[in-house]
Amino acid sequence: MPELPEVETVRQGLAKWVTGRTIRTVEVHHPRAIRRHLPGDAHFIALLTGRTIVDVARRGKYLWFPLDSGDALIGHLGMSGQLLMQPADAEDEKHLRIRFTFTDDGPELRFVDQRTFGGLSLSEGGAELPDEIAHIARDPMDPLFDDEAFVARLRGKHTEIKRALLDQTLISGVGNIYADEALWRAQLHGARPTDQLTRPAVRRLLAHVRDVLGEAIVAGGTSFDELYVNVNGESGYFDRALNAYGREGEPCHRCGTPIRREQFMNRSSFSCPRCQPRPRTIRH
Ligand SMILES: [Zn+2]
Repeated sequence: MPELPEVETVRQGLAKWVTGRTIRTVEVHHPRAIRRHLPGDAHFIALLTGRTIVDVARRGKYLWFPLDSGDALIGHLGMSGQLLMQPADAEDEKHLRIRFTFTDDGPELRFVDQRTFGGLSLSEGGAELPDEIAHIARDPMDPLFDDEAFVARLRGKHTEIKRALLDQTLISGVGNIYADEALWRAQLHGARPTDQLTRPAVRRLLAHVRDVLGEAIVAGGTSFDELYVNVNGESGYFDRALNAYGREGEPCHRCGTPIRREQFMNRSSFSCPRCQPRPRTIRH
């Protein structure tokens, strides 16, 4: 599943290829891909045809394309969604769901999604910030993210630190992988109660979250010049730099203790038993 760094890489690539271009045609090949657009495909197509894309924006893992009409095209990548730039004569992808052509006859924008958990929708009047996305908190790479407000809100919650990092209304864009990596760097177990963390400890953790995401964006952003903008939930970062996630039984890069895997919600958490001891307090 793509996380913030992958989505940011896609955003930067798309911004370069679609900004300032005017949509000539929209083809919806599969109704499920626009199921979130309740007025249906004719409405979707009518509001997009002839419009110029003025930017590509992101909040957390959500992308949107502000249009010159004041509306916005929203993209949810889901598990397997891809927004690809392709030459018009390139063969259709097997799972092509939506195609946009442009008045300049340049590369097409194609939404391809094998599992169709993702999709596109249109937000009327949503160019600045679509209502559908407004409940999602800013991500820590956003220049307007308020560090001190985050520290205060997090410490006011009676929850576990990893749950707080995954809470999209508190901080967005931090998925399971990057939460585990930031917690490893901060030497905190994910079950530590947020109301028992000091302000400096939360600030330190936030700095690690930012570092992990920033490094991943840099690592994933090395191929912007390629026409083919791809999201597959992986980036070069994954191979080289993971310290905790997916490393069960392998030695901790700090102390050599084998990394442990624990059940967390319906997923897994990876941590070092020595660097990140479980909290002693009983959860209530
Ligand atoms: Zn360790």
